[in-house]
Amino acid sequence: MTVTDLVSYEDALASYDPVMGLEVHVELGTKTKMFCGCSTELKQDANSQTCPVCLGLPGALPVVNEIGVESAIKIGLALNCEIAEWCRFARKNYFYPDMPKNFQTSQYDEPIAFDGYLDVQLEDGEIFRVQIERAHMEEDTGKSTHVGGATGRIHGASHSLLDYNRAGIPLIEIVTKPIEGAGARAPEVAKAYVAELRELIKALGVSEARMEMGQMRCDVNLSLRPNGTEKFGTRSETKNVNSLRSVERAARFEIQRHAAVLSSGGTIVQETRHFHEEDGSTTAGRIKDNAEDYRYFPEPDLVPVAPARDWVEELRKGLPELPRLRRARLKEEWGVSEHDMQSILNAGAVELIVATIEAGAPADQARKWWMGELARNANETGRGLDELPITPAQLARVAALVAKGDLNDKLARQVIEGVLAGEGDPDTVVEKRGLKVVSDEGALSTAVDAAIAGNAAIADKIRGGKVAAAGALVGAVMKATRGQADAARVRELILEKLGVEG
Ligand code: ADP
Ligand code: MG
Ligand code: ZN
Repeated sequence: MTVTDLVSYEDALASYDPVMGLEVHVELGTKTKMFCGCSTELKQDANSQTCPVCLGLPGALPVVNEIGVESAIKIGLALNCEIAEWCRFARKNYFYPDMPKNFQTSQYDEPIAFDGYLDVQLEDGEIFRVQIERAHMEEDTGKSTHVGGATGRIHGASHSLLDYNRAGIPLIEIVTKPIEGAGARAPEVAKAYVAELRELIKALGVSEARMEMGQMRCDVNLSLRPNGTEKFGTRSETKNVNSLRSVERAARFEIQRHAAVLSSGGTIVQETRHFHEEDGSTTAGRIKDNAEDYRYFPEPDLVPVAPARDWVEELRKGLPELPRLRRARLKEEWGVSEHDMQSILNAGAVELIVATIEAGAPADQARKWWMGELARNANETGRGLDELPITPAQLARVAALVAKGDLNDKLARQVIEGVLAGEGDPDTVVEKRGLKVVSDEGALSTAVDAAIAGNAAIADKIRGGKVAAAGALVGAVMKATRGQADAARVRELILEKLGVEG
């Protein structure tokens, strides 16, 4: 199937109703691995962060990471789940070279958290409730690198390298119940859900949840059923989608592909699919029927996890404000419209604005610079706002200089430009580039006199009562002072000198 074999999105929705299931894996930000004391720091040499436990050597015994369990409970509570009074780990047996034990320690029929929901906000403000099936603890695999082939895939490679530094890093897998009733908005719901979940995880402080770094990845299950029918169709499972935009595109593509197959009388195969960033398409992975046999059995080397109720309640009390509610509060505090708030969110500017305000800037200033000048610069240079070499504290300093009257907007823009160019702190840039507003009356007066002398005809018009013409003289003074004059004061001076009322 190629991209051209798709049914249009509208046609697909005219005949079929999408059902989705989202499985999200989150790598926890614990210092050590889930079942051993190895560091989770990944910047080290290959296989330097390993021990007999995470290498699966015979006789090595795992021990559960308490922070891993605590993080799982926090996530479960934030997702409105029940927390198991007692649960166990299970072995999921399969062979894969990047998994040295030949089984993954996971949870099967006894997850630590189950039966919850997450309310997500769609772009028009509507709230959609996504039901959560379970959130369970497991561990990551190592990493294979296939060498010698053209594509980096195993096909055509001469050999493969294995790095077990990631093997055993704690993961939480969060699985939704089938998401029904989203209709044409299914892809939007998928994206909004993953976005909300990511914010939640970050707010809980259990992971940085950076999708581009693989700390959070999503499998998108999707099926179609004829409109008006109940029974679910066969699903495909697009694996490891690692950006919000890709989640939306993958769901959209699968809707169009399924519709094409079904409407031409074909059948959907239950299989995994690979997502392709370049054109937003998916291609077949491996066939996956429900009879897959992982020979799950309870992990005999780990004691059951039975979190004390008072611990769970303590964790519940310590939960942070939910991101969706926090956003509503900030929107209120900043006095912005739903639409503006959405743009701020989309730009990834919320935390930067919050930090800039905390550093002393007024809300409107903080918002204006991040969403204006800086958003433009980020766009032009293909960076995220948080990757720009300017800190909220530096921006707050610029805002303070504006508030003091030392800078006007135009000069402030140049100061920001200087900071971005690596010329130093705002004060250093002001100093080096000589960017202070000229409010020294003597200097202004001289500049105004020069402008009047050089534009005699205009000055006459103003004397004759055509006050609007003053703008041209203000312009001349601003030009002569390289934009550094206080424009309002210049205007006053011009009118004063020409003897007219403002
Ligand atoms: P697996 O281990 O095969 O991935 P899971 O139960 O962990 O199975 O996840 C399957 C996901 O797909 C869940 O989110 C589930 O709600 C969803 N799902 C199950 N059946 C369907 C279906 N027919 N169409 C769409 N989604 C489905
Ligand atoms: Mg799955
Ligand atoms: Zn280890």
